[in-house]
Amino acid sequence: MSHAPNAVARLRDQREEEGIKPIQARGWRATRCRACRVIESHCLCAWRPLVETRSGVCLIMTNKEVFKPSNTGWLIADVVRDNHAFIWSRTEVDPKLLALLSDPQWQPYLVFPGEYVAPERVTHSVTLDSTKRPLFILLDATWTEARKIFRKSPYFDALPILSLLPEKLSRYQLRRSTRSEHLCTAEVAALCLDLAGDAQAAWALDAYFDVFSQHYLDAKRQLEMNVETPAHAELMPFVQGSAASMN
Ligand SMILES: [Zn+2]
Repeated sequence: MSHAPNAVARLRDQREEEGIKPIQARGWRATRCRACRVIESHCLCAWRPLVETRSGVCLIMTNKEVFKPSNTGWLIADVVRDNHAFIWSRTEVDPKLLALLSDPQWQPYLVFPGEYVAPERVTHSVTLDSTKRPLFILLDATWTEARKIFRKSPYFDALPILSLLPEKLSRYQLRRSTRSEHLCTAEVAALCLDLAGDAQAAWALDAYFDVFSQHYLDAKRQLEMNVETPAHAELMPFVQGSAASMN
């Protein structure tokens, strides 16, 4: 088994080849690793987990999001083997996205809050079917952008909406002591994987997200890299044959 190809990294590379450059944030002069986007001294690459997943993910992103070093869709694409990513446009749709949505091996679910959708479209569970694998479509954007994408993408109109129940969300937040009131895309994806029976991948993604946050913040605060955290210990079993397991 080898690592998943990262569709978000591929989108970034394509945009750069087209001459689209990220806006460099102030105070971030240190060199970033191309492969994980973290500042080189705190590189995350040795901590990329290797895990089997039956589910697939499809990230719908804005241009800005593709270049953000803090974007967590990237982490999902690192973990889930069958990962896809597309830049959203109001006026065009990538034929590859339409082909993916109609591919009979997948049962797509658009992950979105149920209160904004006609109740008959909403589900809170994932059907585990032996012929179709779940494909989670995640709108990896700000909430304002995600609502716009939702309203202006007619090709999503026929899809079931997977709405994560508030009880489930708050239990998850308690368990993880998530600091933010809103879950980021990687946390939402971990919940979806868990609902689909991909418990190992859900666990690995949660730990990977925590490790990423740690490296990212330590680099920002100019602290030394610390690999002795509980999250590193949780992630370790999923990191095989890499430098991390030898340290
Ligand atoms: Zn790296």
